[in-house]
Amino acid sequence: MVEGGGYGDMDAHWWASRRTEMTNPSASAERTAEYAMTASEYAVWAEEVHRLAAEKDAVVLAHNYQVPEIQDVAHHVGDSLYLSRVAAETDASTIVFCGVHFMAETAKILSPTKKVLIPDLAAGCSLADTITADQLREWKAQHPGATVVAYVNTTAAVKAESDVCITSSNAADIVRSIPEDQEILFLPDQFLGAHVQRVTGRSNMHIWMGECHVHAGISPTDVRLTVAAHPEAEIMVHPECGCTTSVLEMVSHGDLPADRTRVLSTGGMVKAAEASTAAEVLVATEIGILHQLRKTNANVNFIPMNAKASCLYMKMITPEKVLRALRDDVFEIVVPTDIANKARRSVERMISIGNSSRGGE
Ligand code: SF4
Repeated sequence: MVEGGGYGDMDAHWWASRRTEMTNPSASAERTAEYAMTASEYAVWAEEVHRLAAEKDAVVLAHNYQVPEIQDVAHHVGDSLYLSRVAAETDASTIVFCGVHFMAETAKILSPTKKVLIPDLAAGCSLADTITADQLREWKAQHPGATVVAYVNTTAAVKAESDVCITSSNAADIVRSIPEDQEILFLPDQFLGAHVQRVTGRSNMHIWMGECHVHAGISPTDVRLTVAAHPEAEIMVHPECGCTTSVLEMVSHGDLPADRTRVLSTGGMVKAAEASTAAEVLVATEIGILHQLRKTNANVNFIPMNAKASCLYMKMITPEKVLRALRDDVFEIVVPTDIANKARRSVERMISIGNSSRGGE
């Protein structure tokens, strides 16, 4: 166990040997503001990650819901769309994907000749689990000819049954790009679907009633209580959040300030954070994004609407497991060729339409 480190007991022997090499034990007692590791532990671990990555010709990608240490050690940090683009363009022969399983699958779909590793195969996604390829085939049979728009939070098998993939940062652009008379099946997130329908005014769009347990857990009550405690703050809400609809209703009833409330992908949040001059910003999404926001603008106090909104799947990826992935070449992502070939078309459309960003999911 890493003493006080909080990331489990993987690689205990490695840590034990490296800790005795530390030249400044007093520094180990100091903690950085957001790390579970001490500064010395981080430095030793990060050096080993970078050494192994260079030795293995690997690039480390981290989703911005990862723990702060992994975000900071990674070569690239961002949302699914940004990381997909990096995966498609990298010269590295190995990609270590610090995120959840569907994201690593997407990297493999785009880079079939590269080795794609995920540090923990159990890192899934409750939203992706809400629809299977069989369920989608059944839904399509009920709406023949409809265009299937799938959020990137889906399995490779579901992507293979879809026409185009989206992320929260390009969802509205992609729906607008589909001819107006064309029926749309939008899956699997009901809150993102409702948001896209609202901003595009699209009426012939059917929405799958899936949800992410983390975002659905950010409730209208969380919003009301946090806003009441910080009445002057700006407000940023992710479109996947269970509170989104009520936030918009509260704005229209004058219960929230329209000029200070925005529904943004986390990529949009990072951009807005850069420009913000507010003293406080309230944030409704998975709390991992707070690390990026705070790095982007240290003058703003970013406050979570729900401090418990943490994705247990994202947090299955620990610093020790990142090391193991690099050292032992585990766990390799495999996507059957026929599924990968079909899924690639919809993922490539996602990459070619909409805005690039460093945030969002
Ligand atoms: S936060 Fe929700 S949507 Fe994102 S990976 Fe976790 S379970 Fe899936």
